[in-house]
This record gives sequence, structure tokens and C-alpha cells, in this order.
Amino acid sequence: MSSISTPEEVESFVLTACAPLPPVRLAIAQAAGLVLAEGVSADGPVPPFANSAMDGFALRSLDTSRAPVRLTITAELMAGQTPDRKLSAGEAIRIMTGAPMPEGADAVCPVENVGIEGLSVLIREPIPAGKNVRRAGEDIARGSTVFPPGTVLSPAHVGVLASLGIRTVTAVPRPRVGVLSTGDELVAPPRALGPGQIRDANRPALLATLQHSHFETVDLGIVSDDRETVAAALKEGLGSCDALVSSGGVSAGDRDTVREAIKVLANTNAARCFQVGIRPARPFTFGILGCGQPVFGLPGNPVSALVAYELFCRPALLRLAGMVEVNRPRHVAVADEQFSRRRDGKVHFVRVIASLDESGVLHARSSGGQNPHLLYSMAQANALAVLPDGEGLNVGERVRLILTAPGRVRMAS
Ligand code: AMP
Ligand code: MG
Repeated sequence: MSSISTPEEVESFVLTACAPLPPVRLAIAQAAGLVLAEGVSADGPVPPFANSAMDGFALRSLDTSRAPVRLTITAELMAGQTPDRKLSAGEAIRIMTGAPMPEGADAVCPVENVGIEGLSVLIREPIPAGKNVRRAGEDIARGSTVFPPGTVLSPAHVGVLASLGIRTVTAVPRPRVGVLSTGDELVAPPRALGPGQIRDANRPALLATLQHSHFETVDLGIVSDDRETVAAALKEGLGSCDALVSSGGVSAGDRDTVREAIKVLANTNAARCFQVGIRPARPFTFGILGCGQPVFGLPGNPVSALVAYELFCRPALLRLAGMVEVNRPRHVAVADEQFSRRRDGKVHFVRVIASLDESGVLHARSSGGQNPHLLYSMAQANALAVLPDGEGLNVGERVRLILTAPGRVRMAS
């Protein structure tokens, strides 16, 4: 019987074994969600020239110091046009948002605040210099480091890159992850259930959660409980994937052939069969195979598979993607019900529904049955409550949460 590992030990073992994939050059349109491998600096300023922030009248601030004052309208400037005349004392140029500031002008009076009479405009109040003018380089100065290596690119980052005229970046690619299910009892539609058979829930769920994290996925199908067959499927997956995730076959039963297959295929000393001191998801096998690809042998029970994925696999895949921050957001909530448990040397992960009350305080209640085959309560949950070894928690006590679906935390109705 192998020794029991803490979840922290397992996570750290797995993370240490996983390094970011080699960077690639790609178009910025493909880069959202990726991690920059090379920093980006600004060849020019943004905005590239001083321009108006309002529809109104470009003028000299000095001319308005004794407002109300009338100025002569001498020209009109639309966005995209270039000024062909200077602005002199006593003059105003009608200007649209985004149009370049004419030489001589240092402020813009919004059109809503003026009175227009023929070719003259009444400015009612003094306009300070710089008012309603977007300075050149106000957003980004020429030559500045815009994004350092390690930046996780959001859609707004892509917008900034585009505004700088940058078309490609060097970034860590999305890991391509192969998923297989193992078990003689598993079938998938259109095959009907035969006696003793169940439908494969893990492969679709794992493919979906991987896609949700913007990983590329490869569906490697269902494989029977035979060591050679499992090894052949893993080998095939290694041909096209940066990492493999399998479920089932990692306990100590006769047909638990995945752990054996991973051990046989793994590079020397690069496989570990863990017994993790947690519930659910006790057995977990990890190996580095082929050309250095990590392979995650998750337990078969559907909730165990998803919990082990959350705790050990997702952080490692994010590390492959070059991320430094690989953990889900963690929060403390008020227990809205009793979370009873017995002392058993394990950390329990309880499926819960987290919600916010009117004061913004987070609360947690169980999402249903907690046995590892009860996947429905996982579907209802948006967080895992972490119950350390002990007697559990009473109503009103503080409970630690891992928010597995932060976007699904709502105000309590
Ligand atoms: P195992 O880890 O292979 O011993 O499987 C543990 C339990 O999970 C068994 O009841 C299996 O039938 C079930 N199981 C394994 N793989 C899947 C799967 N892909 N979908 C649904 N249930 C599964
Ligand atoms: Mg099995």
C-alpha cells in the first residue's frame, strides 16, 4: 500500500514536472487568452496625434479668459481630415471628435455649450488650456514597454496591440490536450446501453471543461480495460497532443490498467501513482511520457474525475500554457448549513452553491448528494468547499471555497 500524499504535495509534484510549451509567432487575432513570451514595446505614441475629445470648437484658451466672447469660425475639421490652416487669435475651428487639433488651438469648447450665429460662435465661459484635447501619447508613450513577457492577453490587450500597429506576437501556444475514457462498461451514443453498461460521462465533461479553459482538445474515444490497448491509445495520443487526460483505471483493482500503462510508458522515474488524502478523488496517476508530455490518470467516478482535474490537471495545463497564476479564485464564505464530516485524515471537497447576499457577503450551501458518482450535484455547484480534517462546520461558521465557476456566482434570490 503506497503512502498518502496531501493535495499540496501532488499539485507541487505535477507543477514542477510541467514547463511552458515553446513559444510561437502568431497573429494578434489568435492571441487572446495566451501568455506573451516576448515583451512588446511601442514604436510610436497612442494617440498618434493630439485630437479633439468632443464635437465642438477648437480655440485658444487665452481668447476665452474674458468670456463671454465671440470668435470667428474659419474652418471645419472632420475626423480623418488634416488641418490646412493655422488658428489665429480671435478664431475658432469647428471640430469633430477624433479630428486633429489645428496648430495654434489648445482647447475645445463642446458644441452643447456655445451659441452659433452665422460665422461667429459665442463662448460663454473660459476654457482652460488642454480642455477636451486628447494629447499625443496620452494612452501610450513612444518607446515605452507596453506589455512585459508573462502578460496574459485579454481582448483589450489585443486592442492595444492593434492600436500600436502590431500584427503578430510571440506567445505560448494553447496546449493541445487529448482525452480518453477507459472502462469495459462504457458506451457512447448512438450505441444503446447493454446489460451492465453505462454511458461515458467523463470524456464529454473533460473535453468541455478543457474547451472552457481555451485549451485545444482531441477526442481519443473510449478504450477497454486492457493494458496493451490503453498503452496503444496513449501512444497514439502522444503523437498529436501536448498532454493527455484519461479517466478510470487508476485504483488498485484487477482491471485498473491505466496506472500500469502509464508506468510502463513513462520515462524513468517519471510516473507516480498517488493515493491523495482527499475525498473525492483519492487515486491519481501522473507521468511524463513520450517527448515530455504530461499524462494525467484521473479516477473514473465522474465527480472524482472532475475534482482531480480541478486540483491537479487544470493548474498543470495552465502552466504548460505559460501561466504563472494557475489556481481558481479562492474565497471565504458563511456556511448556510451544517457541513458535518468525520475525522478520517482527508480533506473533503464538498460541492456547493455559492451566492452573494445584499451586503456582498458570500454564502455557501450544499448542491446535493456528495457521493463521487453523483454528477448531478456537480452540475448544480459553482464552488468546492474545502473541509479540512476534523468534525466539520456549523451553520454561520466560515468555510473556504474554490470557485470552480466564478461566473455563476449570483445574488441570492
Ligand atoms: P474506475 O476508476 O475505473 O474504477 O471507475 C470508478 C467508477 O466510475 C465505476 O463505477 C465506473 O463505472 C465509473 N466510471 C469510470 N469511467 C467513467 C466514465 N467515463 N463515465 C461515467 N462513469 C465512469
Ligand atoms: Mg474502470
